[in-house]
Amino acid sequence: MPEIQRRKTPTVRIGQVRVGWEVPVVVQSMTNTDTADVAATIEQVAALALAGSEIVRVTVNNEEAAAAVPHIVDGLARRGITVPIVGDFHYNGHVLLKKYPATARALAKYRINPGNVSVGRKNDDNFRTMVECAVENQKPVRIGVNWGSLDQALLTRMMDENNRKADPLPARDVMMEAMVVSALDSAKAAEHYGLRADQIILSAKVSGVRDLIDVYTNLAGRCSYALHLGLTEAGMGAKGLIASTAGLAPLLLAGIGDTIRVSLTPKPGGDRTEEVQAAQQILQSLSIRSFMPQVTSCPGCGRTTSTYFQELAEQIQSYLRASMPEWRKQYPGVEELKLAVMGCVVNGPGESKHANLGISLPGTFEDPVAPVYVDGKLHTTLRGDSIVAEFKDILDKYVESHYGRKSAELVGA
Ligand code: SF4
Repeated sequence: MPEIQRRKTPTVRIGQVRVGWEVPVVVQSMTNTDTADVAATIEQVAALALAGSEIVRVTVNNEEAAAAVPHIVDGLARRGITVPIVGDFHYNGHVLLKKYPATARALAKYRINPGNVSVGRKNDDNFRTMVECAVENQKPVRIGVNWGSLDQALLTRMMDENNRKADPLPARDVMMEAMVVSALDSAKAAEHYGLRADQIILSAKVSGVRDLIDVYTNLAGRCSYALHLGLTEAGMGAKGLIASTAGLAPLLLAGIGDTIRVSLTPKPGGDRTEEVQAAQQILQSLSIRSFMPQVTSCPGCGRTTSTYFQELAEQIQSYLRASMPEWRKQYPGVEELKLAVMGCVVNGPGESKHANLGISLPGTFEDPVAPVYVDGKLHTTLRGDSIVAEFKDILDKYVESHYGRKSAELVGA
């Protein structure tokens, strides 16, 4: 696999997590609880961290939320969770960070939206106040431009300038350029007010895939700050997943992006950790990082006899996901494991042979047996009602014998 040439950036420290070209791309997420609800926010941060989110952002939108932050960080620490908590500020961040110094200390990073803090205005020092708080507490900031809240004064000025040109650019191009200018001007101002380049991350989020690729390609070419990638308001379900993947993949393959978030809209009462799984899966599908064993399964067709094959694929997937928090600690390297769950004899044995563990279920008119392959060789043939349990057993034994610390030590010895 050819190596991706990451764009060189300074390494930014966010709590104990590092972000930048020297370290792998970092996965982050954001809560959707009321931050003032300390217990609910702790629960959700814990779930996101357990799912693999390496940074979690919480909104700090009012005094109650600001007052809750140190309690959230303490509560998480009491549970042994040290994931960095980032405060997402809009409009009143300068007031909240000043009024709640314990919050300014407890947060690992501040996200500032230059579109609603009036960067550089003579009569508005809100941005400066927030940056000075970051300097005082030695916290990094993310300057997060979003096209839904782009600095309107800047945009208007640039649109007016464009309109005066003999050959004006399309409005969309001016908008994209305004996002880049907003991010770069804000970063320059942040450095002027005392932050170092290795304390600044930039983002420029839009909701269109082609716009995302264009704006980040442009931004990446004009600065060396670390970049946070994400398609804003990606949407629900398949649309959100596919649009995010389509937007992030070309950038990541071009070496652009040091941290990512997949902004999925969950179903009512849905599982917030899906956005973490999605971000991990994008990185793993691109062979950028490995997070959990991958299951190759065929789509099924007229040759598959029943839903049994889909059920097996789903059960194995769920079993892996449930096992990973413990496996990750006990069996280093297990995230590289490859499994194949195939529906019939046509591609089943062949695909299974390319995996560490593969099972090929019987298709229509085939003998009711399921050959299992281990490291490319036929290991056993399962039959009857306990195929799932027996396959899980083979899986457990494989993981234990190939990734267990003891086996690694023995191999090392
Ligand atoms: S492996 Fe068999 S069941 Fe699966 S899609 Fe191919 S032919 Fe159909």
